[in-house]
Amino acid sequence: MNIKGVLFDKDGTLIDFHATWMPAYRQAVVMVAREAGRPGIEDRLLAVAGYDAASDSCLPTSILASGTTPEIAALWSRETGMEESWLKKKLEQMFNSDAPAFATPVKDLHAVLGRLESRGMALGVATMDSRASAAATLSHLGIDGHFSFVCGYDSGHGQKPGRGMVDAFCAHEGLTAAEVVLVGDTPHDLDMGRAAGVGKVVGVLTGSSTAEQLEFRCDAIIPGIAQLETLLDRW
Ligand SMILES: [Mg+2]
Repeated sequence: MNIKGVLFDKDGTLIDFHATWMPAYRQAVVMVAREAGRPGIEDRLLAVAGYDAASDSCLPTSILASGTTPEIAALWSRETGMEESWLKKKLEQMFNSDAPAFATPVKDLHAVLGRLESRGMALGVATMDSRASAAATLSHLGIDGHFSFVCGYDSGHGQKPGRGMVDAFCAHEGLTAAEVVLVGDTPHDLDMGRAAGVGKVVGVLTGSSTAEQLEFRCDAIIPGIAQLETLLDRW
């Protein structure tokens, strides 16, 4: 195979989803409960958005795992009666300023990206986070220089599992979809890759999904991106 580019999801793929986002979500529900004058509603807000307290994890297709900030704002607005547009703005402010500081990379992130680059790969990020928050996180981790393309739900290329983000990466890098590997941790990521007809779709287990939830949607499942080179050598 002639693979020339890798498009990564961010949360759960490049960064440890749980370690990065749960502190940010916990701060957010404290703010919502306070502003809504609804003390004690914090746990309920997390639960309706897909957080499972028993397993201390977010369900893979939930709004918290693979939704957007406007979707979270709409849901919590319905729960509390708060004004949706105000809440959306406030959450975006919080997530853009606070979440990058919590960003916890997956193992060997910097080294893996460097080696992929030295193989001549174009590297990109496609996330359902906002572009500004994604750029801030990559910069905070010191890995922004590895990526020639970063897009979020608000970049104008549509949302996952639609194919727009992959098409935009291909257009930006001058690649065909067949020359691209898509790497992600949720069904939405992998379905996006399939919809765009990428060369290979790879699932990773550093996010919110189990192997059983991903296996029918991808060509290979690996524990994390550190194993991606082994696959590239095989293909
Ligand atoms: Mg993800």
